[in-house]
Amino acid sequence: MTTKEIIAIEDRYGAHNYHPLDVVIEKAKGVWVWDVDGNRYLDCLAAYSAVNQGHCHPRIVNKAKEQLEKVTLTSRAFRNDQLPFLCKELCELTGYEMMLPMNSGAEAVETALKAARKWGYKVKGVEENKAEIICCTNNFSGRTISIISFSTEEQYKDGFGPFTPGYKIIPYGDVELLEQMICSNTVAFLVEPIQGEGGVIVPPEGYLQRAFEICRKNNVLFIADEIQSGLGRSGKLFAFEYEKIRPDAVIIGKALSGGCYPVSAVLADKKLLGVFNPGDHGSTFGGNPLGAAIARESIKVLIEEKLIDNSFEMGNYFREKLNEIKSKHVKEIRGKGLFIGVELHPEAGGARRFCEALKDRGLLCKETHTNVIRFAPPLVITKEEIDWAMERVTEVLAMD
Ligand SMILES: *Cc1c(COP(=O)(O)O)cnc(C)c1O
Repeated sequence: MTTKEIIAIEDRYGAHNYHPLDVVIEKAKGVWVWDVDGNRYLDCLAAYSAVNQGHCHPRIVNKAKEQLEKVTLTSRAFRNDQLPFLCKELCELTGYEMMLPMNSGAEAVETALKAARKWGYKVKGVEENKAEIICCTNNFSGRTISIISFSTEEQYKDGFGPFTPGYKIIPYGDVELLEQMICSNTVAFLVEPIQGEGGVIVPPEGYLQRAFEICRKNNVLFIADEIQSGLGRSGKLFAFEYEKIRPDAVIIGKALSGGCYPVSAVLADKKLLGVFNPGDHGSTFGGNPLGAAIARESIKVLIEEKLIDNSFEMGNYFREKLNEIKSKHVKEIRGKGLFIGVELHPEAGGARRFCEALKDRGLLCKETHTNVIRFAPPLVITKEEIDWAMERVTEVLAMD
């Protein structure tokens, strides 16, 4: 079947909640993907940073196959022999005392919000049903009703009310307002250390540090949504490590499974995750042995193959090369590690047409927030591959 025919089927039978580039991928390896016509592309989106380890990493795929033939799902009604080790290994890696496994990122965010509320009532002593959580403008933490309740993106909310109460929104990067907004009912501050969907926005230096101190002073939990920025994407294990803080909770997902399976988690100490008692919260698939085995291997690959260092170094190289391109369209180049945003001037006519042009030249990336091209390739990318990409990017940014 041709690309056109396959797309026609999806358009006919699938809900239209996405606007994908018209490329139909049938296989992938490392940083490369191939479409059904045999064309090869360099993947500079990495499934929104879920395939940091590269597509179909052989170690992760083999581990998945091995586990598939043993046991895939027990539910948490019984125990399995993989989840305990995933918990232990993640805690040892990150220095937190506990973890709670879920599947999608949004579920892990919901879990953190529930933990924060319960902590507020049972530990901090907030009056029943009065807990408040502070979030930032331009955030993205998923698509559930509660999460979109604190979105500032009109489209994410339009038609989906009524919304969950208990959220306050302040501008990303503003610590004064954070301090002013905190009251005795505030239980948590939820923040992305680098905003991904918001357009790869790096906050002002010192912002996370000061926000963290304000939270600590006021007995408010500092919760970092590292679902996209974490696990090496920013050139560190976690993007918050660029400042000297230790969040009360860290939410991870996406690359936790190397793109092989949905696995997410909340990491925190016992004083927070200890609020959950049996029956309080759960998920049929959360912590299943297939996902746990895949996540264990994905973390090992990230560490043993030094992908975090590669992200740091290749990210610097990538941005250096981008900075050498002289284009009238570029307003700003920003990011950390291989988490890179190129913001175009509004007159450039939107990032989409540049992404389409890149696709035609064998490079896949996706616009975010109309005017930003995000470059976030798998962390296994090499200098040669970046040079290859740069030839295409240079060409496309020279368009009228
Ligand atoms: C992708 C993302 C989520 C949601 O993850 P899903 O797996 O799509 O539910 C939450 N927070 C951030 C920062 C993300 O980038």
